[in-house]
Amino acid sequence: MQDAVLLGVLLAAVATGFGLGIRFDARRKHRHPTTTDSSLAREYFVGLNYLLDEKPDQAIHTFIHALDVNSDTVETHIALGKLFRARGEADKAVSIHQNLLARPALSSETNAHVQLELAQDFIALGVHDRAERLLQTLLSQTGNDTYRLRAKRLLIDLLDREHEWQQALDTVHSMLKQQPGMRRAAAHWHCELAREEIGQSSRQLARRHLKKALQMDETCVRATLMLSELEMENGQYQRAIEWLERIPHQDIAHVPTMLPALQRAYERQEAPEKFESHLYRLLGQAPYTSVIIALGELVHRRDGVDGAIECTGEWLREAPSLGGLDYLIDLYLQSERLGGKATPDTRLLLLKHHTDALLEDRPRHRCRHCGFASEGLTWQCPSCRRWGTIKPITGIEGE
Ligand SMILES: [Zn+2]
Repeated sequence: MQDAVLLGVLLAAVATGFGLGIRFDARRKHRHPTTTDSSLAREYFVGLNYLLDEKPDQAIHTFIHALDVNSDTVETHIALGKLFRARGEADKAVSIHQNLLARPALSSETNAHVQLELAQDFIALGVHDRAERLLQTLLSQTGNDTYRLRAKRLLIDLLDREHEWQQALDTVHSMLKQQPGMRRAAAHWHCELAREEIGQSSRQLARRHLKKALQMDETCVRATLMLSELEMENGQYQRAIEWLERIPHQDIAHVPTMLPALQRAYERQEAPEKFESHLYRLLGQAPYTSVIIALGELVHRRDGVDGAIECTGEWLREAPSLGGLDYLIDLYLQSERLGGKATPDTRLLLLKHHTDALLEDRPRHRCRHCGFASEGLTWQCPSCRRWGTIKPITGIEGE
């Protein structure tokens, strides 16, 4: 498909050049084409022959050779470079763009445009340091706002790939007013810096980065979770819980993410009754399966298996789910065992067999932007590379 587009662009560009030459001569009443025109015509037909012989690569090279660089064809050359890059032949795109930059007559705007394209070629080739240098030079030279913005976006993307979080933050700083959508990524860069500080035992600096993350994006669940974790490490369990209490207001979908930390904090406090009332509060906000199961386990420990069956069954009537049903079947099987039944009910075993099969290898998280599904939670989607878009799957088949 891309080959067809590439050949179409070339064929049209060379044919136009050839046709213009002939018309120009006709106006001057010349009967014979000039030498340049005849060589253009020859290459045009050589290219066509390659096409007819189904040799698209040779056809493309012949047409490019026929297409001279001048102010009328610069855009065509840029379009060709883009097509080569899209075909995975960024090295060819580099030579087209470098060839253009070698022309001293390019306007400063065209020069900036070609440099941007060349930077993208280098990124596609994985030569990130050259792309970075080119973009930095472009930013220091061009006054064109459109190209400056595009160069900054490319540079930020590059710094993000290279895990240069502080540099990414420095670059994004002046853009945040016009590009508020970048605040979410910036908050995660602060979280990454906090993680590095924690790795070097600098908890004070980590805390500072996490507060900045929340200033950048008040809905940054990750920063809140990390602040809660720092309080837990200090033995400040109540403060840890207070941080976690913010999460349902930041993003209700992350309640299953915070639940293990919440349980740990109440266990350290040895306050199961407080945990229970907290779970009821969460169920009032969103009756997620993981919260119902956590409550079921708590009641199980306190009132035994039959109390857990009653409590879980009631909540599952309101919010049915596959995981909840599986948990309930487990409770029924336990109840039978405790009741002294020698062999389990085969109907229950059959149901359990089905829920196990349906739950096996089921992804627990999904990117809300591109749909990438995974078992664990990652803060940056490995597929679309957006930050904070992967969340627990909730609902009938979810957490
Ligand atoms: Zn994604």
